[in-house]
Amino acid sequence: MVELSKFTHLFDCGEAVALYHSLRMKPVYLKKGIFKKLDDWLKQKPEAIDSASEDLLGIIKELIKYKILKQDKFEDEKVLEFVKTKLPKPAINVCYFILSEQCNLSCKYCFIGNNDQEKRKNFTKLNMSKSVADKAIDFFIRQLKESSGNINFEENKPVIIFYGGEPLINFEMLEYIATKINNLRVSEKAVKNLEMSVITNGLLLNEERAIKLKKLGVGIGISIDGFTEESNSMRVDNSGNPIFKKLLTILDMLKKLNISISLSVTLSEETINSRDEIIDLIQAYNIKSFGFNIMMSSDTFVVSEKYNEKAAQFIIDQFIKLRKLGVYEDRMMRKLKAFAESKIYFSDCAATAGGQIVISSNGEVGICQGCLHNKKYFISDIADENFIASKNKDIIEWSQLSPINKEECQDCSALGICGGGCPINASYIKQNNTIHSLDERFCIHSKMTLDFLIKDLYRAMTDDQGARN
Ligand code: SF4
Ligand code: SF4
Repeated sequence: MVELSKFTHLFDCGEAVALYHSLRMKPVYLKKGIFKKLDDWLKQKPEAIDSASEDLLGIIKELIKYKILKQDKFEDEKVLEFVKTKLPKPAINVCYFILSEQCNLSCKYCFIGNNDQEKRKNFTKLNMSKSVADKAIDFFIRQLKESSGNINFEENKPVIIFYGGEPLINFEMLEYIATKINNLRVSEKAVKNLEMSVITNGLLLNEERAIKLKKLGVGIGISIDGFTEESNSMRVDNSGNPIFKKLLTILDMLKKLNISISLSVTLSEETINSRDEIIDLIQAYNIKSFGFNIMMSSDTFVVSEKYNEKAAQFIIDQFIKLRKLGVYEDRMMRKLKAFAESKIYFSDCAATAGGQIVISSNGEVGICQGCLHNKKYFISDIADENFIASKNKDIIEWSQLSPINKEECQDCSALGICGGGCPINASYIKQNNTIHSLDERFCIHSKMTLDFLIKDLYRAMTDDQGARN
């Protein structure tokens, strides 16, 4: 029998309907008249394509090619099995170095828990020492070598991210590690192409440090929530005072020094309401790249009911404005790339790709920096010379968290472009949730983005040449 694949989803594009297979990811647009003919023909439950009228036949053949229609009743299972074989094997290429678990801010939405006195007590006051740093570098290099069979480090450059708490509290160690890595580039093939960046709230940057970071080749990512005091009202110091004005002076200083930075913009409710200012911010400073973060819930912070939808729409609206300026936002770009290349996007973070380790200030080794406060999924220690991350059962479990493996995701139109969001957030959303649960916040973003991409492509095509009729 000829029928629609269970992975086929329909999108209303005005005068046309888009038929889209969530794993083949190539939409086919049909004018509504011809779609109605096709639909009527399918309702007859045709055994073979030869019963179709002349004007439908070519279209049907094309839809079969794109797997939107199937003739073989086992075809959906075969496509899914094939896709599952492409799920990348765990291979470490990202390492978070937690230089200090302490932070000079207490952002109200901090999912690590720096805004919470109880969780804060769990953070060690000891910053990463030289001897921990030395062992951590050796540990990471060993993991890179162990992973080299599963990954091409020329294409997937290894990455060190200096993180915290606030990493610049321990600037001395950042400088030490970055210098050591740079010195190792000649003798150690695994780190030859390694990239380094620091994710910071920016307040501890000064001219000397900024110039040093540039010389060391350490990219700077600064977290900010928008261009106004209101949109940054969640970012406060440990006494609850706003820090926005101070941060602007730091951005000015970096601009004068001609140092490129990335911005990490957390979408607070206030940020979403101050729509135009984000573009001002990006244009005013020397912004190399930026990314939006959708806020996460935790046991101490819950987002409003309408927040997820508003945040998803905000990202789409900003994308439309920013692409005219040739500025692309990372979160949207990842989905756009998967869609444009019809290439399954298996996971949305390095941890769920089975590609990441986190080394805490005292040398414990974990999977996700979001678990620093309770050390959940901290699975080893830099002293363990026999540990192989890519063979570790927890890392393997995380590497399987892709929507491709989730029962609840199989009927979802966004299956191919989604990547599945954040398992830690998923585990916070409802009682009894685990890392295997759905990150429902992310579902809204994925589905709305796909809807936008399919309709946007149609708009672009009809502007160019008109839809098939
Ligand atoms: S699991 Fe969540 S918190 Fe952890 S690295 Fe991934 S996105 Fe970040
Ligand atoms: S996580 Fe949500 S959006 Fe992503 S594929 Fe699953 S159901 Fe769809």
